[in-house]
Amino acid sequence: VKFVYDFTEGNKDLKDLLGGKGANLAEMTNLGLPVPPGFTITTEACKTYLDSGEEPAALRDEVSAHLDALEAKMGKKLGQADDPLLVSVRSGAKFSMPGMMDTVLNIGLSDKSVQGLAKQAGDDRFAWDSYRRLIQMFGKTVLGVDGELFEDALEAAKAAKKVTIDTDLEAADLKRLVTKFKKIVKTEAGRDFPQDAREQMDLAIHAVFDSWNTDRAKLYRRQERIPHDLGTAVNVCSMVFGNLGPDSGTGVAFTRDPASGHQGVYGDYLQNAQGEDVVAGIRNTVPLAELEQIDKKSYDQLMQIMATLENHYKDLCDIEFTIERGQLWMLQTRVGKRTAGAAFRIATQLVDQGLIDEAEALQRVNGAQLAQLMFPRFDDQAKVEQIGRGIAASPGAAVGKAVFDSYTAIKWSRSGEKVILIRRETNPDDLDGMIAAEGILTSRGGKTSHAAVVARGMGKTCVCGAEELEVDTKRRRMTAPGGVVVEEGDVVSIDGSSGKVYLGEVPVVPSPVVEYFEGRMHAGADDADELVAAVHRIMAFADRKRRLRVRANADNAEDALRARRFGAQGIGLCRTEHMFLGDRRELVERLILADTDAEREESLKELLPLQKKDFIELFEAMDGLPVTVRLLDPPLHEFLPDITELSVRVALAESRKDSNENDLRLLQAVHRLHEQNPMLGLRGVRLGLVIPGLFTMQVRAIAEAAAERKAAKGDPRAEIMIPLVGTVQELEIVRDEADQVIAEVQAATGTELKLAIGTMIELPRAALTAGQIAEAAEFFSFGTNDLTQTVWGFSRDDVEASFFTAYLEKGIFGVSPFETIDKDGVGKLVRDAAVAGRATRPDLKLGVCGEHGGDPESVHFFHEVGLDYVSCSPFRIPVARLEAGRAAS
Ligand code: PEP
Ligand code: MG
Repeated sequence: VKFVYDFTEGNKDLKDLLGGKGANLAEMTNLGLPVPPGFTITTEACKTYLDSGEEPAALRDEVSAHLDALEAKMGKKLGQADDPLLVSVRSGAKFSMPGMMDTVLNIGLSDKSVQGLAKQAGDDRFAWDSYRRLIQMFGKTVLGVDGELFEDALEAAKAAKKVTIDTDLEAADLKRLVTKFKKIVKTEAGRDFPQDAREQMDLAIHAVFDSWNTDRAKLYRRQERIPHDLGTAVNVCSMVFGNLGPDSGTGVAFTRDPASGHQGVYGDYLQNAQGEDVVAGIRNTVPLAELEQIDKKSYDQLMQIMATLENHYKDLCDIEFTIERGQLWMLQTRVGKRTAGAAFRIATQLVDQGLIDEAEALQRVNGAQLAQLMFPRFDDQAKVEQIGRGIAASPGAAVGKAVFDSYTAIKWSRSGEKVILIRRETNPDDLDGMIAAEGILTSRGGKTSHAAVVARGMGKTCVCGAEELEVDTKRRRMTAPGGVVVEEGDVVSIDGSSGKVYLGEVPVVPSPVVEYFEGRMHAGADDADELVAAVHRIMAFADRKRRLRVRANADNAEDALRARRFGAQGIGLCRTEHMFLGDRRELVERLILADTDAEREESLKELLPLQKKDFIELFEAMDGLPVTVRLLDPPLHEFLPDITELSVRVALAESRKDSNENDLRLLQAVHRLHEQNPMLGLRGVRLGLVIPGLFTMQVRAIAEAAAERKAAKGDPRAEIMIPLVGTVQELEIVRDEADQVIAEVQAATGTELKLAIGTMIELPRAALTAGQIAEAAEFFSFGTNDLTQTVWGFSRDDVEASFFTAYLEKGIFGVSPFETIDKDGVGKLVRDAAVAGRATRPDLKLGVCGEHGGDPESVHFFHEVGLDYVSCSPFRIPVARLEAGRAAS
């Protein structure tokens, strides 16, 4: 195998091997763009190193060969005393992990070559500044020295000279700082800063490999669902310098606005600086458009390159560049991260530009983004006290108590508080705090600062670079112009779409996308209109493409109507137990307590008209579309009082000698029905088999309601679903009874009723015997909630709170199997049962109604195994439609 690729050898499709950065550097090189020469060490080399603790045997020689070639191309040798070739060593995984892994710049500088660099550049200050940066970065990332020590020494040097910015330090100051930094390294790392350039490079390469497994990188990967076994590539690239004076600089750019999608000039530029100054948000940048005044030639060239990249990648690209004494160099490009709204807009814009087709447009957006757009935002009619404005870095409306450090953010959010994390700037150590917070506010840094990039990735509201807000993390407070002071615990509201910061709680209003789905969106709000138009088109693309139908889990007319507005094509699960709560609980209680047939029949008779009315409303709301009504499922104790409370009540009454006959009967019943594992006890079809008349009452209500709707010229399409079936015999018995009732209702009303009878597949035995069960079922609906709990032996009500966090941390699964279907286990049963069911009954209708029906990844799976529909909560219907369309394109 080959472990090292020259930039001229790779291309953008080799991300697995070369990482995103390496693959794109190669792509740009081959497009003829100005990329400083270099080479990439593959992720395979990293994996070998991480698995065995040693680099692959062939790596050293391969690196030497590529280094020789690089030196020949550049006409100088790495670390050469009189004119050193310097290189950067940068991480670059398949998926971008901003700021998570290590980078070392200026490798090749030493006590000797710093002199050579100074002479070549004609700039002492620059050479010593580069050297001190190398020792600082190398000390911190390669030798593990606490970075604060270097920062403190730098601050001390500035204070001693009574200056505030780094660039005010002169060559002599920096030279002294280098001596100081080397001392720090010696004391802290117990070794001298290496003077040999190749040793520097090799150690830096290992440090980049190792940085794949730091805690913060692992946490980030869990958050972003990036697999842990990919490893990182390492890019060794000849250095170009943005810190060679005012005709040099460095910047980042987007080919479109990553927040709105609009085309234009977006980015930040920092004169006389090296790359990490921009990304770290340490100094304030100028908008990219100002580069036109600073260096017109480079600006024009950059604009042209940006157009080339967009047309080549057919997507928004982000770019890092450096200008060295008027010469433009491209250091990185990639298809850029964007906000959810921008993703929809850009996808439709690119279709209009003829760059991509509808199927590709669907791949450019996803359900998670659509879900994000369905969040509420701030009410613009509300009276507000604006205290500042920063850069709209990641959209959303976040309200919470101000906290000034990650520790407090985590602590408070654990106790149920909503918090806004306020920092001057964030760095990777703040990741936990950012996850815990509702939103993030910083006073420094641009759209590409750490806070902005990471928040966007997490879909978290973020306002950054709110410069007029003075953040004092030590005193835990923030001061706004005009003297308003926000102390820790004060409520603030931040708007990630406008960048505005408010004191106090601002009320939130529904999202325009929801208003659109609800049919309430009206023209006028320009920005929202554009977004809604894009969503509308993408949804149309999805609906045209998808094979899966989408139904709703709904059990009242109101939810059913909303679901219809959101695009539901029927109801896949009506949980009738929800109709037995409230005032009706008493009737159900009487049914359960009944000692005699007469008593039982009495309460059933009272329930019948109530059930019937429910169904009439539901069938009317879903007129013309299928409605799957599930017969009663939960264990009976759920309809009875809590055992402890009732015991206390009875005991107290007894002590007062005024016991109540009904309470005593109730308590007996509660004891009788008490189960250790109610979810595995008397529920579902088992209830129907042991409580005479219960299921037939429900079937009668459904049949009579359907007959009545027909009489009213409606088009009811009811389906009857039996829950928790484990064997075909259970289903056959219930089915026979149901058929009889339906026949009676048909005879009595003179109406022909076509009521399909089917079952849920939610027990392993049902899945395993699906071929038999299909003989008695006209449809299957996979109940993947119960199926997950019974296949794994996880109680769904208990485990998520108790040990799932540990399981996620240990990587046993990347996401809860109750959220995304476990394809290998539960999914296998679904797949096999679908095949077996259809083998028995080719026209068997197949759906899913567990929570997974609205989960993007699971929807793709259900498409793939050939189900006919998914059913999910009304609010998730648009997401399911979109993902079903994406799955099919
Ligand atoms: C299921 O088990 O997946 C299901 C939809 O039923 P419930 O969640 O009501 O048990
Ligand atoms: Mg179930």
